[in-house]
Amino acid sequence: MERICGWIIRKKLVGRVAIIEISGDRYTKPYVLVFKKDRNPEEYELIQGLSIGTALCFEGEKAREQKSRRGIEYVADKVEVYAEPLKPLPVDTSGKVPALLDTRIRYRYILLRNPLEKAILKIRAGILEAAREYLRKNGFLEIHTPKIVAAGAEGGATLFQLQYFEHRAYLSQSPQLYKQMLIASIPRVYEITPYFRAEKFNTIRHLNESWGIDVEQAFVKSEEDIMNTLEELVAYIINYVRTNYEEELELLNVELKPVHTPFKRIKFAEAIEMLETEGMKVSSTEDVTDAAEKKLGEIMAEKGYDLYFITKFPWSSTGFYYMREEDGIYTRKFDLDYKGLEIASGGQREHRYYKLVEAIREKGLDPRDFEFYLEAFKYGIPPHGGFGLGLERLMMKILNLSNIREAIVFVRDRTRLVP
Ligand code: ATP
Ligand code: MG
Repeated sequence: MERICGWIIRKKLVGRVAIIEISGDRYTKPYVLVFKKDRNPEEYELIQGLSIGTALCFEGEKAREQKSRRGIEYVADKVEVYAEPLKPLPVDTSGKVPALLDTRIRYRYILLRNPLEKAILKIRAGILEAAREYLRKNGFLEIHTPKIVAAGAEGGATLFQLQYFEHRAYLSQSPQLYKQMLIASIPRVYEITPYFRAEKFNTIRHLNESWGIDVEQAFVKSEEDIMNTLEELVAYIINYVRTNYEEELELLNVELKPVHTPFKRIKFAEAIEMLETEGMKVSSTEDVTDAAEKKLGEIMAEKGYDLYFITKFPWSSTGFYYMREEDGIYTRKFDLDYKGLEIASGGQREHRYYKLVEAIREKGLDPRDFEFYLEAFKYGIPPHGGFGLGLERLMMKILNLSNIREAIVFVRDRTRLVP
C-alpha cells in the first residue's frame, strides 16, 4: 500500500461507478481511481460528492490491469479529504477547455495540476538537471554572484534601479563581471541565475526576469573553446531531455531529434551577405534585428541546420568586455541561434588590463564605475571566455512554445508584477 496525495482534476460518474483523476506528485499523468458503489457504498458516496479541485490522500496500489490511457490506474482505499475549493476553479485543470494565455499565466499555479502544464515545468527542471550534470562532469564549479550590483554589464538602458541605503544600486542584468572576477581563482565556473532587464517592449521572447545558465572558462586559446563547451552542453541537454522525458514530450506532442556536434558556424559578415542575397536590408555594424534573425533561421533550416553559431560580431555591436580582433572591426563574440532565435551569447573576453580600460572608455563608459572589476585584472587573469544561455529561450525551441511566457510559472513582463 502507498499513500498518495493530490487534487481531483476530473470526475466521471457512470452508473454505479465513480472514476476520478488525481494529479499527484510522482507521475506527470494523473492517477485514475475507480470506486464501485456495490463494493464500498460509503466511500462511493464520499467520492461522488467531491468537487474538482479537492485536495485528498488515499491509500492504494497500482492496478494489475492498466486500461486507461489517460493515467495510471490505482485501486484505492481510505480516502481522506484535506481541502475543498471554496468556489469552482477559474480554469479547467483537466485540459478539456483551454485557457487564454493571460488566464493561464494568472492561474498557472493551479493549472500545473494539468499534465501538459506539469510536463513543461518538469522539462524545465530536467534541462537544469542535465546542465548541472554536464558541467559538474566537466569540472565546472557552481557559484553564486550578487543580484544587487553597482554597475551593469550590458549598459544602463535596461537596468532596474533601486535604493541601497545611501547608494544607487541595480538589479543584476547578468553575472558577467563577477564570474569573470572569479576566473582569478577558479578556472571553470557556472551559475544558474536570474537576469533582470528593464526592457520596456513586449515581445514573445523577452521577459523582465528570465533565467540563464551562465558559464565562464579560463585558459582558452580562442572563442572556439567556448563554443565547444556551449555546443556540447546544449547537445547534452537536448539529448538528455529526449531520453529522460519521453512521456512529457509525447504529452506535449514534441518530436525531438537527437542532436549532434559540432554545430554549424557562420561569420557575422557571411550572415549579413546571406540576408542581403535574400533581399533583406541589414546593417553590417549593428546586432541583427528580430526579422533578420528569423529570416536567417529559415535560410539555415533549408540547409538542414536547426542550431548554428554566428561568429565574429563587429565591435560596434558588442559589450566592452569582448576581445577585439587585430583588425579592430570584429570581435570574438558569437551567438548561438536555435530555429531562428538567439538562445545564447558568448565569446572570448579581453583579459589585458590596459586594453580593457581602453575598451570601457571607447564604449563611452567611465572606468571608475568598473574599478572593482578592473582591479581583478591586475593580478593574473588568463585568457578566458564564457556565455549566457537563456533557459526560457531554450525551452521555447525545444518544446515549440510560441510565447516565452509559457516557459515560466510566474511571469515578470511589462504588465505583470503579480502573481
Ligand atoms: P536579445 O538581443 O535577444 O534581446 P541579448 O543579446 O540582449 O538578447 P544577452 O545579453 O546576450 O541577451 O543574454 C544572454 C542570453 O540570455 C540571451 O541569448 C537570451 O537567451 C537570454 N536573455 C537575455 N535577455 C533576455 C530576456 N529579456 N528575456 C529572456 N531571455 C533573455
Ligand atoms: Mg545576446
